[in-house]
Amino acid sequence: MNADLANPAPLIARVEPLTRTRAVRGPFDYRLRPEQADVGVGAVLRVPFGRQKTLGVVLELASESELAFDRLVEPDAVLPPGVPPDLVALAGWIAEQYCSTPARALGLVLPPGAAGGGRPRRVLIATITEPGVEALLGAERLTDRQRAVLSRLHSEGPGEATPLGTGTLRRLEARGLVELSPVDRTERTLSPAVGRRLGGVPALTGEQRRALDAILAALRGEDAVSRRFLLHGVTGSGKTEVYLQAVQATLAAGRGAIVLVPEIALTPQTVSRFQARFGDVVAVLHSGLGRRERHDEWMRLRSGEARVCVGPRSAVFAPLADIGLIVVDEEHDPSYKHEKDPRYDARTVALRRAEQHGSVLLAGSATPRPESVVTLTRLRLAHRIDRRPLPPVEVLDMCGVHHPLHPRTRMALADVRTAGGKAIILLNRRGWSNFLACRGCGQVWMCPNCEVALVLHGAQGFLACHHCGHRRRAPDRCEACGSVAVARHGAGTESVEQELRDAFGSELPVFRLDADTTTGKGRLAKTLAKGHDFADVALGVVLDADQTLRFPDFRAEERTFALVTQLAGRVGRGEDGGRVIVQTMAPAARSIALAARHDADGFLAHELRRREALGYPPYGSLIRLVCSSPDASEAHAVASRLHGLIAPAGGIVLGPAPLFRLRGRSRNQLIIKCRDRLSMVRAVGAAVEQGAADAGRRGVSVSVDPDPQ
Ligand code: ADP
Ligand code: ZN
Ligand code: ZN
Repeated sequence: MNADLANPAPLIARVEPLTRTRAVRGPFDYRLRPEQADVGVGAVLRVPFGRQKTLGVVLELASESELAFDRLVEPDAVLPPGVPPDLVALAGWIAEQYCSTPARALGLVLPPGAAGGGRPRRVLIATITEPGVEALLGAERLTDRQRAVLSRLHSEGPGEATPLGTGTLRRLEARGLVELSPVDRTERTLSPAVGRRLGGVPALTGEQRRALDAILAALRGEDAVSRRFLLHGVTGSGKTEVYLQAVQATLAAGRGAIVLVPEIALTPQTVSRFQARFGDVVAVLHSGLGRRERHDEWMRLRSGEARVCVGPRSAVFAPLADIGLIVVDEEHDPSYKHEKDPRYDARTVALRRAEQHGSVLLAGSATPRPESVVTLTRLRLAHRIDRRPLPPVEVLDMCGVHHPLHPRTRMALADVRTAGGKAIILLNRRGWSNFLACRGCGQVWMCPNCEVALVLHGAQGFLACHHCGHRRRAPDRCEACGSVAVARHGAGTESVEQELRDAFGSELPVFRLDADTTTGKGRLAKTLAKGHDFADVALGVVLDADQTLRFPDFRAEERTFALVTQLAGRVGRGEDGGRVIVQTMAPAARSIALAARHDADGFLAHELRRREALGYPPYGSLIRLVCSSPDASEAHAVASRLHGLIAPAGGIVLGPAPLFRLRGRSRNQLIIKCRDRLSMVRAVGAAVEQGAADAGRRGVSVSVDPDPQ
């Protein structure tokens, strides 16, 4: 008998246990049983771990271990289907790039349902009740969120609970305003067929043709052509059609494609256009799906039955075998950044995956990020398909206007009502109204070091920079004009929404722009993309455009420019054209003035110069570190200690700067500016590890966010 067969080389699997604890770092060696000989990289195993059982992922196979073979334990079970090996490698990369752990990063790429049993295929459906309709008409107190959910149910009919927010719905249910009923779901959900189904494939315009030709050359793998593109074109310029035809070519070449969109529930037209064009070859992955459905879609991709995956951020991990193309639609959207550990940016991960697979990357936006303009090859679509010009934008100076609506805005609204058109009004009021503005001249108090607005810590009566910690006493009169009307910005606009309702009833739909107070992140895209029909929007109004301009962060200019531009792109697409009004205390602000002239190139050029001067991305990288604790002095102490540990690694360490208390915890922030991102991420990781014991004793938790948004 052949000696090798009788006594085959022992097979050892190096397994990363899937635990949340940072202290546990694998991989650990396990001895495979003979019948487990086909276990490969990416296999998911249930293994004994200490006194418990845990799931783990095989990182590599080996024939030797530092431990004696007979001391190794055996896995209990192999749980198919396992993770494709390229995704195991990608997870390792993410753990390193985003200062996370291999286990947490592997959690991103596991087959849905791998970590728990399959749940029954039931979904909750929410329906608005009679009292719910009455509540909407004003009879009851509702939070903004509750009102938004109710109006959605009212206008669009019963809907699935999860994407609307089950918590909110449960509270509404308790008050009898909605009904929730579980429904068995047996079929795969298709997104609702909104928008018109395209009969055929339209002939491309010249601009589209040129853009697609460049992409096709890259897809063919021609030498010396770029493989990373930025499709820069206003809303309605035909970007999606270019994506569709690029995907078509990818499929024809026998490869697969990933199409990332900001959020499925809010981009139903995009999804249904892909489904309409490619049918069952499209799989949709999103959070509204039950675990079972996610699993089914994942398996269709894994088996090759589906070759196009459309989905938000996490779809970048779609288990496709051979990816020819990755599309990132609305590439400026902040939802591409994951706000929990691992704090990955799907746009960056997409670039990495494209490298792994030799795929073409195609990002698109009407308001691309300055960093994309520098790093990607730009293809322009300068005109709308319907050839209608962009609407004129009028900037109204609100200094000295002591009413939330400028008289010209009121007139414009009245005109629209008379003509029977639609208006979009962005109420930009809920986020960071924590900066000080002079009502007389519009001056805002800025950090002399960082070019970001100082934030008012009202209770303590001081202004602080959330980047570098620079502080000053809150002034009681304006140094520029002497006015004593210095106020927290946004105060006084709270009543706008009610006022609009009173004046115009339900004849004008009111959209609200919510800025998420915890992250300072604008939600413009979400609000604007809600799947409404923009064909006859005659007027767009931004109230308080300087609100985004004063986010205490270096992307403030970019967001403000995007706010106005994205709105303009959705106005005036009907027969009668349209117009946009921007109310602001800062009419001369560059981002507002350039957006009003539709001058994207001018804005990008200026913004890039500014960022270069200040060392902001893409000319440097930022890493944000937040220490939080119920006790302010402990948080500060740990932040200072970390400052000391990180400073020798080079770069510029700003802070500690106080942030607002959040959920009962005081927070202190360090911002690190550096040129060499990866080595700085490593240094920060090492410092955090070194300081972990001390932080633990003081009850301080530390989070690290490379590339904060
Ligand atoms: P974007 O993604 O830039 O907003 P779309 O691709 O959605 O633009 O195009 C806007 C509209 O024009 C859509 O209704 C689309 O079907 C249509 N469209 C796009 N390209 C063409 C074309 N070449 N010929 C005719 N209609 C087109
Ligand atoms: Zn002033
Ligand atoms: Zn500062």
